[in-house]
Amino acid sequence: MPEEIRIITEVFSANDAIARQNQELLNQRGVYAVDLIASPGAGKTSLIEQTLKQLSPRFRISVVNGDLATQLDKERAEAAGAKAVNINTGGECHLDANMVRGALSSLDLSSFDLILIENVGNLICPASFKLGAHHLVVIASVPEGDDKPYKYPGTFAQADAVLLNKIDLLPYVPFNKERFIKGVKLLNPRADIIEISCLTGFGISKWCEWLVWRMAEIKSSNNRE
Ligand code: MG
Ligand code: ZN
Repeated sequence: MPEEIRIITEVFSANDAIARQNQELLNQRGVYAVDLIASPGAGKTSLIEQTLKQLSPRFRISVVNGDLATQLDKERAEAAGAKAVNINTGGECHLDANMVRGALSSLDLSSFDLILIENVGNLICPASFKLGAHHLVVIASVPEGDDKPYKYPGTFAQADAVLLNKIDLLPYVPFNKERFIKGVKLLNPRADIIEISCLTGFGISKWCEWLVWRMAEIKSSNNRE
């Protein structure tokens, strides 16, 4: 194996080992976690705000925000009432399992049901670094264009759910919804596709139902073990 490929393989397998430990820790403490991936401006933080608004009365939620340089998103999550932890990646364009391990160690995990991890805004490499979350959710948005699944197949292929945000803009921008959906289904027939608008609240209940359903599924499979 060429040296460069050997090193890359080792980096990923080291990351995956830490990701598995993170997930074991989450399972031991009875916490469900999702990794939210999207390009900048697709609406990750707005989705977190809407999710907190709807689910905070029923569940204890923490937010882990990955950010290149600021803690603006963490502040928004806190303003929405969540315990939030910021990971400043220092310019790194994705979160990795080791960064998330650090964030988890600063939380009293037993006092949460659900952790929403906001990855760095980027559709390319975050999907290559497992964090230990139980599910991966990709958020795309109407103004970004209907070609996103075709251009970032690696990310869309791994998603457990694809949220199509800013659906309220559909009448105003050129976006072929059928083309978008076809692209996702070609890459990933098992992903659930949910249309939402964080601005109007459209589809947020459906998304929250998905989250609660998947959380219950993970928790019951952990209890059986
Ligand atoms: Mg954000
Ligand atoms: Zn990266």
